[in-house]
Amino acid sequence: MGRKKLARLDGIDDALRVGPEPGAFDLAGMDRAATPCVKDAATAAELRPLLGDELADLQERLYAEGRTDGTRSVLLVVQGLDTAGKGGIVRHVAGMMDPQGLAIRSFGVPTPEEREHDFLWRIRRALPAPGRIGVFDRSHYEDVLVARVKELVAPEVWEARYDEIVAFERDLVAAGTTIVKVALMVSRDEQYKRLAARLDRPDKLWKYNPSDVDTRLQWDEYQAAYQAVLDRTSIPEAPWYVIPADSKDYARLAVTKLLLDALRSLDLGWPTPDYDVDVEKARLAKTR
Ligand code: ATP
Repeated sequence: MGRKKLARLDGIDDALRVGPEPGAFDLAGMDRAATPCVKDAATAAELRPLLGDELADLQERLYAEGRTDGTRSVLLVVQGLDTAGKGGIVRHVAGMMDPQGLAIRSFGVPTPEEREHDFLWRIRRALPAPGRIGVFDRSHYEDVLVARVKELVAPEVWEARYDEIVAFERDLVAAGTTIVKVALMVSRDEQYKRLAARLDRPDKLWKYNPSDVDTRLQWDEYQAAYQAVLDRTSIPEAPWYVIPADSKDYARLAVTKLLLDALRSLDLGWPTPDYDVDVEKARLAKTR
């Protein structure tokens, strides 16, 4: 199964990418239950495992390149409000790859030490080494999202950060990191359902945080802050992808495919060994 369905999936990059011009994407108008390039959520669940072999193969090539003289890496930035499914992306998408080649980092409220530095300090320290795929569960974007909505810093401070982020990401890309930025967007109703489910189930209570309701009360402010992020930081070198996330299966498939596309674009081969294969074969044969 799946050839045609997989071919249709090739349109996902264009379908979900946010163009560089401000106003290119209208967050308020998007259908968060949509499944672009896929028939429905059930189909998405069937398709994702079909991408696993290629993803693992390309990851291994990248890792091998990094172990020789390669300088390239990939960084997946995962953003989204509470319940958007960030954790599920990390578990299920990153779970399709070899943990050895991954560098997974989550960013919570800055520690006292982190607060002593520029907001990008902790991000720089967490960047993937050559050959690795970094996954950021939240990121430097919190510094123009929660910091803006909760007024943690003065407006002129967060205002200046959009340009700082763009400059930072341009440098990263120039130094060999392919950046894939995904914003998982659930509808207000779906967020309500997911929070209510957490409070109803003993095995989900640990995921609930009373501050989730406070964040929900500022829904509109967060949407406006996300819209500003999309307007000001979706650069051609590192565009944003907005993922309709009411279906977890769809969101996971979409992110898997975007990551796969990023790896494909690197045109990864296998490194040439720095030893003579024939000589080594002969040496090995003598040890039989
Ligand atoms: P999640 O909600 O992502 O599952 P969590 O509830 O387990 O995570 P943490 O990962 O410890 O909590 O922290 C997430 C919280 O940290 C979020 O409320 C987020 O807004 C906040 N946070 C992240 N980065 C910053 C930042 N730069 N400044 C202020 N708060 C931040």
